[in-house]
Amino acid sequence: MRQSPHRTLVCVVAEGGCTIRDDGEVGTTMLPQVEGPLGTAGRPRWPVGVLEVRRATVLCGPRVRPFLSMSVRVTFGGSSQIRWEGELAEIITSEHGKVVSDVLGEISRSQEVVKFATSLALHLKGEYSEQVSTGVDVYSTRQPVGVVGIISPFNFPAMVPMWFFPIAVAAGNAVILKPSEKDPSAAIWLAKLWKEAGLPDGIFTVLNGDKEAVDGLLTHPDGRAISFVGSTPIAKYVYETATAHGKRVQALDGAKNHMLVLPDADLNVTADAAINAGFGSAGERCMAISVVVAVEPVADKLVEKISARIKTLKVGDGRRSCDMGPLVTAQPRDKVASYIDIATADGASVVMDDRGIDVDGDPNGFWLGPTLIDKVPTSSKVYTEEIFGPVLSVVRVKSHRDGVELINSGAFGNGTAIFANDGGAARRFQNEVQVGMIGVNVPIPVPVATFSFGGLKESLFGDTKAHGAEGVKFCTQLKAITSRWLEPSHGGINVGFPEND
Ligand code: NAD
Repeated sequence: MRQSPHRTLVCVVAEGGCTIRDDGEVGTTMLPQVEGPLGTAGRPRWPVGVLEVRRATVLCGPRVRPFLSMSVRVTFGGSSQIRWEGELAEIITSEHGKVVSDVLGEISRSQEVVKFATSLALHLKGEYSEQVSTGVDVYSTRQPVGVVGIISPFNFPAMVPMWFFPIAVAAGNAVILKPSEKDPSAAIWLAKLWKEAGLPDGIFTVLNGDKEAVDGLLTHPDGRAISFVGSTPIAKYVYETATAHGKRVQALDGAKNHMLVLPDADLNVTADAAINAGFGSAGERCMAISVVVAVEPVADKLVEKISARIKTLKVGDGRRSCDMGPLVTAQPRDKVASYIDIATADGASVVMDDRGIDVDGDPNGFWLGPTLIDKVPTSSKVYTEEIFGPVLSVVRVKSHRDGVELINSGAFGNGTAIFANDGGAARRFQNEVQVGMIGVNVPIPVPVATFSFGGLKESLFGDTKAHGAEGVKFCTQLKAITSRWLEPSHGGINVGFPEND
């Protein structure tokens, strides 16, 4: 389990193949024309990312881009490698810290998107209307947008890039992926996999770095689209900067997901679900449940059941059959832990505080045990801010209606769930709640790849979500062609606006 400052593997796709180096420090990017990391070998001649965008632009131009059946075949080739679960899971667990069973879920959801991408021919079919006017036919076609930049967060180092790149590549685009500087190795592993599957050099490039690399992608005039996933302030910056530079942008960001528990819910099943969704991946999921909204009179019983289950969780090294691993680095661990003191100061009741927990792992890791806080005031930062760690809050309300109003008054609208046996109440919930992904007795309602993933309100800047039909639309552009084959009768001068007859 890593505790030292990060080393950044750098992959640039240069002439002749994918070059892998491991001598970059955090936040530096190696360009092919420099000998060492930035800062030791001087600055490159171009801002970070410019070279990659230029190369990719040439490669996905209309005359040379891979034809559809080839890009789909290569996309499929990448998915059919059998080493995924062993090698990739090991990389992610040792670099990120999440437990292996969690990584296997991440990998299977990533493969789902690849399978969707291999059916892309179906989604790129245009429409055709014959004889819309005398001798005139109209048809439409979807073509790639060109160079697509993907900027991804640390928490799903394989799945989030794969929400986008299999679809973008299968649709004929060139992709430049800027992974999180906290765990970039999964991205490089994926680049190598697709290279082995036959993807031509330069179609999928991993560009390491931090803000400087991101800015290169956001501002380069030849980049056409940006898919971003990360925190809300950075998403806002990415959206504003890239749209100001003429790009289409989808920026998926922060969340504060509520689970509404009605009095008729099965409280044992509900408590299990709250544990899984609150503490899986140490709460470092954008779809984690961070607030349980208990409709009275169930709160006392539910808190008791959740506390009893927390005591059974084993925290430790993700490779040793533990339930929960460490947080990704020291800084977020300390920030998450600071909310426990804020809760006490704001008058909440801290039911479980496992800051000093014994772990089955290296004592120097970035550990924080599962925390349960009851009666959280909705004015407290513990309630209003995204914590992104293993801290589960409980808020008590008097009715279903109060619960929905509470959820709708928040800034975010990523995911939510209702636990209930009353079908009518669940149906009302799904109609009224202003959230993009809703679970009915499903605590982490991540839609399958054929549907689209994304939130509402402050959880999504832009209007297009990831994968499914919206993902295809985002990385393609629509053309309409009006055509007729000339006959002598088509001659004659008429400068009026064309009418159909
Ligand atoms: P982050 O915003 O710190 O980083 C995301 C990406 O932006 C990284 O590649 C990073 O290098 C880059 N970046 C960071 N600072 C930058 C800056 N100043 N300028 C330009 N680029 C910058 O996010 P994170 O900590 O890696 O991930 C956690 C966040 O991601 C949480 O807020 C979580 O909710 C969110 N997230 C959202 C979704 C979703 O679908 N809505 C999914 C996963 C994660």
